[in-house]
Amino acid sequence: MAELVQRYLDHILAEHTEVADGALADYIPELAAVDPEGFALSLTMADGYTYESGDAACEFTIQSISKPFTYALALDQIGCAAVDAAIGVEPSGEAFNEISVDSATKMPKNPMINAGAIAAVSLIPASSPDARFALIRDFYSDFVGRRLELDDEVYRSEKATGSRNRAIGYMLQSFGVLDDDPDEVLDVYYRQCSLRVTATDLATMGATLARGGVHPRLGRVTTATVIKRTLSVMVTCGMYDAAGDWVSAVGLPAKSGVGGGIVAVLPGQLGIGVYSPRLDRNGSSVRGVRVCRSLSEQLGLHFLTVRRDSLATLRNVYEPQERVRVYEVHGDLLFSGAEQVVRIVEGECDLFDVAVLDVSRVDDIDEAARSMLAALGTQLRASGRQGFLVDPDAAVIRADNDQGAGRFSGVDDALAAAREWTRDRSL
Ligand code: GLU
Repeated sequence: MAELVQRYLDHILAEHTEVADGALADYIPELAAVDPEGFALSLTMADGYTYESGDAACEFTIQSISKPFTYALALDQIGCAAVDAAIGVEPSGEAFNEISVDSATKMPKNPMINAGAIAAVSLIPASSPDARFALIRDFYSDFVGRRLELDDEVYRSEKATGSRNRAIGYMLQSFGVLDDDPDEVLDVYYRQCSLRVTATDLATMGATLARGGVHPRLGRVTTATVIKRTLSVMVTCGMYDAAGDWVSAVGLPAKSGVGGGIVAVLPGQLGIGVYSPRLDRNGSSVRGVRVCRSLSEQLGLHFLTVRRDSLATLRNVYEPQERVRVYEVHGDLLFSGAEQVVRIVEGECDLFDVAVLDVSRVDDIDEAARSMLAALGTQLRASGRQGFLVDPDAAVIRADNDQGAGRFSGVDDALAAAREWTRDRSL
């Protein structure tokens, strides 16, 4: 089911399969050992429905994608004021592993660079490093809905080569940001970075962020206030020092990691997980960035797209004649509204011979939603059914389009045509 969206994702993945730019991270030796061709894309809608394309079961280490989640845990455990007293929220414009603090406050500039992420680990209240790691692992696992496991080899590799992070840890101690032993804090940080996830796990974590901290199936993980702050720093600082370009071109709160993953979030609507381990010079997945860009452009996912009613969708479904179902769509229709309509109609296709999609009360519709609804009609016809559109203003199918034959100006006309079609078919 939901084949149309599945085809979109498969198509977007195929479009980028040939891209071989970038290089594996090699400053952590174990990361250079992965298959450079691994490629996966997952999309989890706010109701938990998940689309997967490519190597969606392939596991990789979460790396810096852990940072927003540990920051969220710190906010959840000790509150905003205490976290703000240790970590800023200003984009740094610096590399992720820059040995730096804010020149005035002597605090890490934000929680998405290593200095801020290491400080965030130290804020998680726990009696020992193991207890701290257990809290972190459980918190991430709640976002995913399964227990995440540690990649012991990556953890050891990272720990053995972590001079730069050690320098950051001791610098933070010298400025009074770290109260605990820097090596113990770093050990937990390396472990959090070495937790294994799949693209689908990331999409689910993204969907839980998109729902304000509520896992689509398992319920609340943290508060909406925590998530609002977390998404804010993902917008301004999530994509290393390319955050400005990312917000303009893609427009989704996101975080990438040197393991090759990216999580991106459309608040209220969906989470995206992408995996491809070849990185650009900022440390983000080359194919991952391009896939997110295409998804955002082709499906209209920029989070600043202004709509009047994001809840627009199916308002009414009824069966005025035997095996004829009418689906009434209201409001402004963008990708996720269209996805819901298409999925419901496809899912119910055994219940009807004719589906009448009434879009006469749709106020505004974007290109992605238009082509999905038009393709739905084509798909229904290909499966021996009929899809009629009540579209008096030609919102979905232009009047001059050759598919105009399935377009009607009122429900009564469409129902008359449905009766005729059913009669002809039974002759
Ligand atoms: N564990 C990595 C480090 O601190 C994370 C880097 C990243 O994904 O950006 O070097």
